[in-house]
Amino acid sequence: MNKKRRTKQEINLITLIERYHNEDKCRAYLEELRFPNGVACPRCGSTSISRVQKPRVFDCNSCRYQFSVTSGTIFHDSHLPLWKWFATVYLMVEAKKGVSANQISRTIAVSYKTAWYLCHRVRNAMTVDNPQPLSKIVEVDETWVGGKRKNVGHGYKGNKVIAAGAVQRDGEVRLEKVGSRDRETLHGFIHKHTAPDTEAIYTDDWPPYKGIADHDTRHETVNHSADEWVRGDVHTNTIENVFSLFKRSVVGSYHKVSRKHLDAYLDELEWRFNNRENPYLFRDTLLKLIRSENLPYQQLVAD
Ligand SMILES: [Zn+2]
Repeated sequence: MNKKRRTKQEINLITLIERYHNEDKCRAYLEELRFPNGVACPRCGSTSISRVQKPRVFDCNSCRYQFSVTSGTIFHDSHLPLWKWFATVYLMVEAKKGVSANQISRTIAVSYKTAWYLCHRVRNAMTVDNPQPLSKIVEVDETWVGGKRKNVGHGYKGNKVIAAGAVQRDGEVRLEKVGSRDRETLHGFIHKHTAPDTEAIYTDDWPPYKGIADHDTRHETVNHSADEWVRGDVHTNTIENVFSLFKRSVVGSYHKVSRKHLDAYLDELEWRFNNRENPYLFRDTLLKLIRSENLPYQQLVAD
């Protein structure tokens, strides 16, 4: 994907176990992340807090609210020990091709259903805050993903969905489920994710991309149908590699990705890709989880 070696995470499996092998250690770390300037009451904001004798319960001296570091967070309603959350976050940020609910289920000894729900809640937190428009040189492509079906021909697309992707050279990627590969959809996708003065858009020769150029944005294409893949620095290899990574993770880890959850899986890949040089991805994902809304199970399984 990128020629540079992937940045090493500041945590590995050994340090994960050393640092976070029990509830108390996990709680202490969450406390550091949630209250970097000292514990504050989630109800009234007061920083005059007493610690109750019970393990890590706080008592607000102003409003007498008793709370813990997980109160009001996604961790609170879960009956899972925190170390299982921590291990899952670690495995999900570390696995370049994603990790399946099945594997999480075996690794942390929970039921498949619990693992599936857990992965979705972590995935739900893996979204970029305030994504900025891409600029300079941007590669754009779109692809069919998901839904293999038995006994139908190779060209069968009924069970598949389309993902569009844009990546700035040496920069971030944006991935999104789209309804069609037509001009309106693809132009809309490009306008949504790129700055108006983007220097150049590189695509293949799929006709709907035509007309995306304007006075300050070039449009260059490589003619895949004539077997042309690279011309000078014009190519779409970066975005194609992102898609092939995604497809390998669908085949290898997620097995199947329903239309409904496709966006969530794309967000997860986007999160990892855009943080590929961030050695603190484990910590930053935990931070996102602390601040994320809960994702009710019923909402996930509803049609
Ligand atoms: Zn209070």
